[in-house]
Amino acid sequence: MAINIEAYERIINELGKDVTLVAVSKKKPISDIQELYDLGHRDFGENYVQELIQKQLLLPPDIRWHFIGHLQRNKVKYIAPFVHLIHGVDSYQLLEEIDRQAEKNNRIVHCLLQVHIAREETKFGLDDKELLTLAGDLHKYKLLNQLQSIKVCGLMGMSSLTDDVREVEKEFIYLKTLFDEARRIIHESCFDTLSMGMSGDYKIAVKNGSTMVRIGSLLFGERR
Ligand SMILES: *Cc1c(COP(=O)(O)O)cnc(C)c1O
Repeated sequence: MAINIEAYERIINELGKDVTLVAVSKKKPISDIQELYDLGHRDFGENYVQELIQKQLLLPPDIRWHFIGHLQRNKVKYIAPFVHLIHGVDSYQLLEEIDRQAEKNNRIVHCLLQVHIAREETKFGLDDKELLTLAGDLHKYKLLNQLQSIKVCGLMGMSSLTDDVREVEKEFIYLKTLFDEARRIIHESCFDTLSMGMSGDYKIAVKNGSTMVRIGSLLFGERR
């Protein structure tokens, strides 16, 4: 197995300085990650806690690990010591647990709230109402000096599985609107990250305000 260096360099050039590339390495071997690391890449995304812990132990400590999967509350403790950014937060209870584990580790853990813009039933995330409610709660509790060990720095979302470019674009525009609204409510200085765009739709995402794309198969090849 090998990574697609040509694709990597092309994407890095396309994205420029303002958009962060998270290389999604789930189900890919350590050697692939090391190869990209040796080219200077530091941001990697994983979906499964067990897999992430194993890789983290074996790879250089200056990798910035992004957790992009669905995170169960009872697993937060395993990644809290080192995780760089948790993309998929979709409940107040999960925020609370991340805060608790971050505090235990003497860290501030950065998170993104996951918004459900796709219509498929299986996807996790908050709808618009839930998002704005959670944003309001967060602001309130922060004012009460609670949740001091987490920072919510933006939103994450995925488009529907469709080839309809206009539909995908509509969804990204909608996510950007929610991002701007949530930012006004949350009042967090770090709130500048809009994580949207994957191998198949990252160009549309960037055109519509994405600041962070999560790309797997274009870099590492298809997953089995
Ligand atoms: C797997 C995954 C990606 C990467 O998908 P590709 O289509 O391979 O680029 C991005 N985001 C999330 C949340 C994922 O689960």
